Amino acid sequence: MKVVFAKGLVSTLSEKMRAFGELETGGCLVGTIDGNRWTILAASDPPPDSIHEPAAFERGIAGLEEWLESQFALGRDYLGEWHTHPHELSSPEPSFADLDTHVAAAKRFDRALLLVILAVSPDNPQITATIVEPDGGLLR
Ligand SMILES: [Zn+2]
Repeated sequence: MKVVFAKGLVSTLSEKMRAFGELETGGCLVGTIDGNRWTILAASDPPPDSIHEPAAFERGIAGLEEWLESQFALGRDYLGEWHTHPHELSSPEPSFADLDTHVAAAKRFDRALLLVILAVSPDNPQITATIVEPDGGLLR
């Protein structure tokens, strides 16, 4: 598997991280899947009913369906989710809770899902991309 970020998308995500300071934030990812190549073309803002905490993010749903429909109309598919680990010295690796949540979602949808995590400093972002399979397998 190869995960590709559209040009400018990492800096867009950094700006979204910066906007929430010490609180985690996140949203949905859309793009294309071509064989083993996952290309991320856009990331949603956090829906306004999301819950932002220093070490947790629960994505809301307000307005998301409309955003996704607008993306599907461009020929993009839902790929998965992104969120931040914005604290000093935090790791961009998924936590056990992150993996539990995403494996459960992959099982529910019966498809592989992408989990992108952005960490540390908005000016020096570190990023991981993990593809979570319905059987709990992880691809990096
Ligand atoms: Zn996390």
